[in-house]
Amino acid sequence: MNVEKIENTLQLPSPIVPFTPDWEGVERVSLSVKRDDLIHPVISGNKWRKLKYTLGQAPSSVRGIVSFGGGYSNHLHALGFVCHSLGIAFNAIIRGDYTQHPSPMIMDLMRWNVHITYVDRKTYALRHDDNYWRRLQLEYPGYLIVPEGGSQVSALRGVAELVTELDDDVDTIIAPVASGATLAGIVAQLQPKQKALGIGVLKGEGYLESLVSTLLPTPSTNWSVNHDYHCGGYAKIPLYLADFCASFNAVMPFRIEGVYSGKVFWALREMLAQGCFEDGERIVILHTGGLQGAR
Ligand SMILES: *Cc1c(COP(=O)(O)O)cnc(C)c1O
Repeated sequence: MNVEKIENTLQLPSPIVPFTPDWEGVERVSLSVKRDDLIHPVISGNKWRKLKYTLGQAPSSVRGIVSFGGGYSNHLHALGFVCHSLGIAFNAIIRGDYTQHPSPMIMDLMRWNVHITYVDRKTYALRHDDNYWRRLQLEYPGYLIVPEGGSQVSALRGVAELVTELDDDVDTIIAPVASGATLAGIVAQLQPKQKALGIGVLKGEGYLESLVSTLLPTPSTNWSVNHDYHCGGYAKIPLYLADFCASFNAVMPFRIEGVYSGKVFWALREMLAQGCFEDGERIVILHTGGLQGAR
């Protein structure tokens, strides 16, 4: 599949900017933010990284794409835009029925002529099931089925490229973890002395680690997932987190939202105050984008 038309519109390598909040403990480390949120105005940053080779390596005979997500999914949004731009048919399987009240994300999909199928929770729960995939493949012959979040082994190579865009003297890369492919892609490209710290954005102690390990090409020990900052679960945004994001957005040079980046920066602030980092540690925070989901 020829994705050059998209690639020509992307800001890559994405910018890396110093980050100097007036937070407790900040003077002891060096912080910068990898602005993957700037890769494209519509395509959410890490979703492009994950799709790049999955789509780029797909045969041009592919007749269309099927994928899955929730009603605010950054993945469906990114894929919907890409398919629309490239003239590829796209069927989005969405959890829940938004017929009466389409989300801003779904309204974009409709504008981009995406074929939408709403499914109930029970059907959505089958999204990783082999038999269900076989049925879908019969229903959509010649279509490429992309898993939820675009997260599969072919996603890692694109994510790994963000690490190659950084200076070698970076010690630690911090990123949100949901399906784990973003963290796995980072880990796959780390230098031996570097480490990756994932912030779990959902309740998934043990589970998130297994997702990352399963995707990794070779076992690795220079990564971990912190589970203290999911703030109640996936897409749960308690008042303290909403307040934190609002104050952050009022003064900082870039925006965050409560589902992914807000939890990462919240975790960072707490961990700095607790002295969780080494003196002089050079830390890069990956801004994965996702601001469309907060509309
Ligand atoms: C999907 C998404 C993530 C989670 O990435 P995984 O690879 O699923 O762990 C993080 N941030 C944003 C903005 C996302 O859209």
